[in-house]
Order: sequence, then structure tokens, then C-alpha cells
Amino acid sequence: MQLAINGGKKLRDKPFPAYNTIGKEEEEAVLRVLRSGKLSTYIGSWHDDFYGGTEVRALEKEWAEYFGAKHAISVNSATSGLYAAVGALGITAGDEVIVSPYTMSASATAILLYGGIPVFADIEEEFFCIDPKSVESKITSKTKAIMAVDIFGQPSDYRALREIADKHNLKIIEDCAQAPYAKLDGKFAGTLGDIGIFSLNYHKHIHSGEGGIVVTNSDELAFKIQLIRNHAEVVIGAKGYKEKSELHNMLGFNYRMTEIEASIARVQLLKLKDLVEQRVENVLYMEERFKKMPFLKVPPIRDGAAHSYYVHILVFDEKIAGVHRNRFIDAVKAELPPTIMRDDSAVLLSYGYVKPLYLQPLYQEKICFGEYPFNHTEREYKKGDCPVCEDMHYNKIITHELMRPGMSRDDMDDVVRAFEKVWENRGELS
Ligand SMILES: *Cc1c(COP(=O)(O)O)cnc(C)c1O
Repeated sequence: MQLAINGGKKLRDKPFPAYNTIGKEEEEAVLRVLRSGKLSTYIGSWHDDFYGGTEVRALEKEWAEYFGAKHAISVNSATSGLYAAVGALGITAGDEVIVSPYTMSASATAILLYGGIPVFADIEEEFFCIDPKSVESKITSKTKAIMAVDIFGQPSDYRALREIADKHNLKIIEDCAQAPYAKLDGKFAGTLGDIGIFSLNYHKHIHSGEGGIVVTNSDELAFKIQLIRNHAEVVIGAKGYKEKSELHNMLGFNYRMTEIEASIARVQLLKLKDLVEQRVENVLYMEERFKKMPFLKVPPIRDGAAHSYYVHILVFDEKIAGVHRNRFIDAVKAELPPTIMRDDSAVLLSYGYVKPLYLQPLYQEKICFGEYPFNHTEREYKKGDCPVCEDMHYNKIITHELMRPGMSRDDMDDVVRAFEKVWENRGELS
């Protein structure tokens, strides 16, 4: 008996290093805000501070310049940003938005919040983003937009998506929560669609605890997002806006970011490039070794794209391995220690990502706000709807974060050795 999963000795006990990007500079920024006493100066009425306080506005200016977008609008989460984006596009009851099923749940719930119907298109086998061919096959007269997700840190195929969008007069929302600093054809993720949404939650490349940033080049969309962020109905009423009657039905929320979060995000933004470059370097190092394992495939990078590796994907071949992926990965995990910070209970190594969204009870039972908005559609959500996504999720994809900054070459070698050990002793798994 060799393998730890069968009671053998673990390959490594020593915990992997923590991932913590917060340091002195963030501490100083927070103290500066704290001492000013102005933790948020937003007000929900027509005033300069309708657009937030000093830190919020400075962050937005810096973010827009950094990514080359005309507008950056901070919000209290990427989820809020997605909601505001769908609202700004004027999605309404029964409108269809085509979305990837392989994403964090909020990419699709944002559509439902406005009465829209999420229509799930399948994903690409090599890159795991929404497949333009599948998108095109789902378009109807009700389709209003495409919600593309730059999953795992790689931009979607915006060349093809833009062509489809132009042909059918659709808008593109880009959920780039996992892809800050990723690029396609020299342009940053977030600026590849009509509206891009970044996340600053604790688990992302850079963070401010919670937070999100929406970017767009459209003055009109930016204004609508600012309205939705901060009690739209109050300001619209006060301003009169007779000439802009499309604003009269705007419903606002409180999606405002605090000054402390904004001050942290400003410092974190300065660290982004370096953090992503370390991820890329680590991935290259590990891939050299993973490539030599016959049962693993290292997924390609899209032509013209730069990946930012929110997570690193490996594709498992059960036929060659002779054992199911889940059993194999359970055995690899058993060889390695739990990690500390950002996950203290499990090795940051897993099979699959999230269950294809249409298999969640929300879609299976079609109950949201009571029957609304599903009572505006005949569409059903069924197992088998997106076969590539299901195969990737249930059989092929391995996800891990053991390439994050802070991992040394020795640490990464141990991860690779754990795979090798399980491969060499795979006979024990059957
Ligand atoms: C993290 C994430 C979100 C949500 O981000 P929050 O800031 O936590 O609301 C949305 N979409 C994707 C793809 C994500 O990974």
C-alpha cells in the first residue's frame, strides 16, 4: 500500500504558502480614510456626491485609465455590477439573453432579475468559454444580448461574438470577474464587449474584501449604471428629465462602494500586473511537467489572447488513465496538505468547476419570483442541453490554484509529484 488515500504516507505534510496580497500600502490607505472620518460620502440625491466620495472617484478614474475604458463605475460587488449592466441595457420581461452555463451563478441571475430569460449556449471544448456557433444557433427574435464570461482567466472569442452581435443587433456583456489583465488582440478583458464587469471579492486576483467595477465606452450606459447604483428613481424624479422618458422607469438600488474599499482597490490595482505575471510564470513551469503525463492535456490559449489564470485547468483522459477523474484527483488530494488562507480546509485542487447552471433547481423547477419571469417563456432546461459543458464538468476538467503567487518551485514540484505518484500506483485505485 503506497497511496495516501489507501492509508500510505502522504507525499507532503507541510502546508502550502498562504496567498495574501494585502500589505503595508493597503494598511496606510485604510488608515488615511479612517482618520478622515469619511467612510462614504454618497448621497442618493442630485449632488456631486451622488457619484461617490474622493476615493471612489479616484479609483474609477485610475481604473478607466489603466484598462483603456472611457468609464469605470465602482459597485459593491461584481454581482451588483452584472445586475446594473443588464438593467442599463433595458432587458425586460421575456427578453432572451444568451449566457454560458459554466460560470458563477450571478451571470445568469442578473438576467432573471430584470425578467429576462437566460438561454444557455454550450461551451468551447478547448477554451471553456461560450461557443459562438452554439450562440448563433440559439438566437431568436426575442434575443437582446449575449452574456460572455471570460472563464478561468481567458477572454471569450469576441471576434466571432462581435460579428454575431452586429448581425443580429445584440449587445455584449462581458463578465471578466476572473480575467483582470487578460487580453485579446492587445485589448484588456472587460473592454471587449459593450459593458465589462470586474470583481474585487476576496477570492479574485486582487481584492478589497468585496467590490466590483463596471467599465464601458458608452456615456449613456455609464449614466444608467450610475443611476441604478444609487437610487435612480429619486434623482430622475428630481431632475425632471422630460426629454429622457426612457429613464422614467429606472429603479435604483444601493450598490455603492465604501471609501475604505475604494482606497484598498486603488493600491491593489498597482499590484495586478505583477501578480498576473507570477501566475503565468508558475503555470508555464508546471505545464512543462504536466505535459509529460500521458493522461493529462494542457489546454491551449486562444490565438491572440493572454491568459490571467484565475484557476489553472488540466484536461483528464479517463481512457488513458484507466480510472475516473474524480477517483484520481481524490487520490492526488490525499497526498497533499490542506492550504492556509483563502481555504483552510481543502487542497485547492478539484474536479470540475460549478454544475452547469441549467441543472440548478432554479431552472429545473422554473420558480424565481413565483412563476415570473419563467411564465414569459416556453423554454425548458434539460440535462443534455449543453453536452460539451456536461462532459467537461463531470468527466474531464481538473481545476487548481496551486500556481498562485507565493508558491515556490519546490511547492509546485510537490504538486506535480503527487500526480506522478498516483499515476505510477494507479493500480491501487481500481
Ligand atoms: C466572482 C465572480 C462573480 C461575482 O463576483 P462578486 O464580486 O463576488 O459578486 C461573477 N462572475 C464570475 C465569473 C465570478 O467568478
